[in-house]
Order: sequence, then C-alpha cells, then structure tokens
Amino acid sequence: MIWVLGAVLAWGLATRNLILAVPADLLIWAGWLLVNPFTSCGWCKGKGRHPFRTRRTYGKCWNPRCQRGTVQRFGSKTAHRAVRALRDYIHNSREG
Ligand SMILES: [Zn+2]
Repeated sequence: MIWVLGAVLAWGLATRNLILAVPADLLIWAGWLLVNPFTSCGWCKGKGRHPFRTRRTYGKCWNPRCQRGTVQRFGSKTAHRAVRALRDYIHNSREG
C-alpha cells in the first residue's frame, strides 16, 4: 500500500504535479482506511498473545489497541466519521 502512495508522490515530483499528487495520496489513503479499517497487530503478529513467552509476560498481547490480534488502523475512525458527516450533509441539503 505504501508503495502506491510513494508512486503517486513520485509521479507528482516527476511531472511537477505535487499539488495534485498530495491530495490524491490523501484520497487513496482515506479510501484504503475505509476498505481495510483493521490490520493484524504488529506486536503479536495477529496471534493476540504476547510475543515473548516468559513466565511473567505470557498471556494477552501488550498492545492496548490489540483485540485478539487485530488493531484498528490509525485514522480509520476519522475516515468513517468524515464519510458519515458528508452523507448527513448531503441528506440535509436535499431536505432543506
Ligand atoms: Zn497484538
């Protein structure tokens, strides 16, 4: 995924269209968050358990955002909220 964003930025640099490439990157990133709001936890590799199996640390993953091995991507809630706000706005403007 990060390569797509990098490619868009590189395209922007190469063609001097950074003013288009940056918002395009943001749009792609927001779309990505909407489609894939969850990712596997990097701390426990999606297992939901602590990666170091010593007597003291054995058990649940230490990542506070980890839910059985999945974490919600940073900003995905914001992206969903933005879509909801936009939908409400369109709905309201239609009625009014
Ligand atoms: Zn985890």
